[in-house]
Amino acid sequence: MSGMRPTGRLHIGHYFGVLLNWVRFQSQYESYFSIVDWHALTTKYANSRAIKADIWEVALDWLAVGIDPEQSTIYVQSAVPEIAELHLLFSMICPQNWVEREPTLKDMVKMLAANESEAAEKITYGMLGYPVLMTSDILSFRGELVPVGKDQESHLEFSRDIARRFNHIYGVDYFQEPKPEFTSTPLLRGTDGQKMGKSFNNDIKIADTAEDTIKKCKSMVTDRTRVARKDPGHTDICEVPWPLYQVVGQNLTAQVKEECESAAIGCVQCKERLAGCINEYFAPMRERRAKLAADPDHVFKLLEHGNIKARKVAMQTLAEVREIMGMVTWSSLNS
Ligand code: SF4
Repeated sequence: MSGMRPTGRLHIGHYFGVLLNWVRFQSQYESYFSIVDWHALTTKYANSRAIKADIWEVALDWLAVGIDPEQSTIYVQSAVPEIAELHLLFSMICPQNWVEREPTLKDMVKMLAANESEAAEKITYGMLGYPVLMTSDILSFRGELVPVGKDQESHLEFSRDIARRFNHIYGVDYFQEPKPEFTSTPLLRGTDGQKMGKSFNNDIKIADTAEDTIKKCKSMVTDRTRVARKDPGHTDICEVPWPLYQVVGQNLTAQVKEECESAAIGCVQCKERLAGCINEYFAPMRERRAKLAADPDHVFKLLEHGNIKARKVAMQTLAEVREIMGMVTWSSLNS
């Protein structure tokens, strides 16, 4: 089980870091992939109307890169309200200091607030409960494996703790502790050499046109010590193009290294060639995306199919959890 916040069109860092792994997993495991729109509210609550369009863009990107609704269950988190109820039940058993010590929250505080008083204003109750909702996302589907990078292992530890605590409190062995499925994520930087991100305006989108890609590649930071065209370059300190060659132009890396280090090629020419590799790699996905975007009814049906499938599983889990907890349902109150 894994999810992604809808933040609009995805970039090639998302593709090589996350989506490519999902495409591989879907043929090995029963997979659930969620567009987690409630999670988007933690930071976008004041701009909530924009989330709808972002859900659409993410769905198009997922389908275009090969997340296959026949193999995986693709759904929108808010279309499965049982996740919210399980989140509420988990929030009752989750000790306060567990959420406060969460590294995710600490990262968000750093990102959103300049000082303590700003943090008090911006850090909402919903944001504090973010790991509890994430746990509900996973455990609603009795998720056993969650693809994570090594640096995100601690996030999953929280869900494991909640699963263990639930089992302990109610004397059951119901929830399995979800395990991390470690994925390798190539370090791809944005065109300016910083972390690739939409908000930094330095990303190359999966859906970019070939022309946009060429333009963006031209602005990439290379080996900063290479001043003149005749200077030999150093691939080991070439910040953006060289790591990208490793993923989109593997058949060219020996040639690029040789030509770079002997100054047989300039960075301008090298980046043009890289743009060609990126465009060639993503051309079939871009074509598929354009076709899907032209047929919104079809995409809607695919998502709806996933929502129904996901909801069935989450309803079952919630019914079993209520039973374990001895919770009443309204219809059973007087029976
Ligand atoms: Fe990087 Fe290519 Fe320039 Fe070498 S020639 S520094 S690999 S962009």
